[in-house]
Amino acid sequence: MARYTGPVCRLCRREGAKLYLKGDRCYTEKCAIDRRAYAPGQHGQRRKKVSEYGLQLREKQKARRIYGILERQFRKYFKKAENQPGVTGENFLRLLERRLDNVVYRLGFASSRAEARQLVKHNHFVLNGHKASIPSMLVKVGDVITIKESSLKSPKFKEIREVIAHKNPPAWLELDREQLVGKVLAFPTRDQIDVPVEEQNIVELYSR
Ligand code: SF4
Repeated sequence: MARYTGPVCRLCRREGAKLYLKGDRCYTEKCAIDRRAYAPGQHGQRRKKVSEYGLQLREKQKARRIYGILERQFRKYFKKAENQPGVTGENFLRLLERRLDNVVYRLGFASSRAEARQLVKHNHFVLNGHKASIPSMLVKVGDVITIKESSLKSPKFKEIREVIAHKNPPAWLELDREQLVGKVLAFPTRDQIDVPVEEQNIVELYSR
């Protein structure tokens, strides 16, 4: 499937916010947005007046980039959220959070969503005892995510226990650090989704 393969720090600089796309590097002084907090390109430092549409568009792009999803699939999530009961914006973010690659990232098994996506695709995880290699799979309440037994010997997972010792998954997920088992306790509420996105702007953009 197609995906963005260009420089990712550029995306943060374009959105003017840390989107945490590079894993551990995002927490160091090497973070590009800490060093050059203005938009990329020749005119990046110019002050621009942003229209209402522009604001809504930027918010949508920001969310898309955080979750690493292309426009077409992103719209599909929105359509699905619209057809669910409740607040569309919240439903939308909840659907994005329920993606398997996001859950793997939230549990601390990967340092970024991009890495989580790759690990899922390379078949390192098991969902409810079955192979799970599709990053866009949506988890349900009660689902159990584990790392494949054979994958635990790979260099990536050799020190995973030390890595997750310092990570705290959100309250809607449970992590057994010893057994390396993650469980979905509930669907996330809006206050449990810590992404710097004003979803109402996205709803307004797609409702135009
Ligand atoms: Fe964004 Fe991380 Fe790059 Fe900083 S290091 S600009 S947070 S991707």
